[in-house]
Amino acid sequence: MATGSDKPIPTATFETRPYWEGCKRRELRIQRCAACGHNQFFPRLYCTRCFSDRIEWIKASGRATVSTFTIVRRPVSPAFADDVPYVVALVKLDEGPTMMTNIVGCAPEQVAIGMAVRVTFEDWSEEIAIPKFEPA
Ligand SMILES: [Zn+2]
Repeated sequence: MATGSDKPIPTATFETRPYWEGCKRRELRIQRCAACGHNQFFPRLYCTRCFSDRIEWIKASGRATVSTFTIVRRPVSPAFADDVPYVVALVKLDEGPTMMTNIVGCAPEQVAIGMAVRVTFEDWSEEIAIPKFEPA
């Protein structure tokens, strides 16, 4: 029988380590380009707007709006069997970037496009905390 510990846990890389360190400290970090001011997520080595490598990390507000979502009723693997039904959503951060995430803290049927949400974190290991969003 699979358990939650069987879930695939992300591994921090050179590009993503500041992001995961932030999550562990309950800070949602995104990148800002020092050359053009563009905010981006997920982490990259270069700005996706101007290709500068002058990338800085900033703490995002954690506030976002649900852009779209789906309710997962059949688990993608036995490791997620205890989680269904759950919500997979795209949320637009107040700072601009879009994140794929889960909406938690309410029934899946209560999630709606345009809903205001805020970040919360779920510890999956000693190094990794997963950002999820809940009704604001
Ligand atoms: Zn840029």
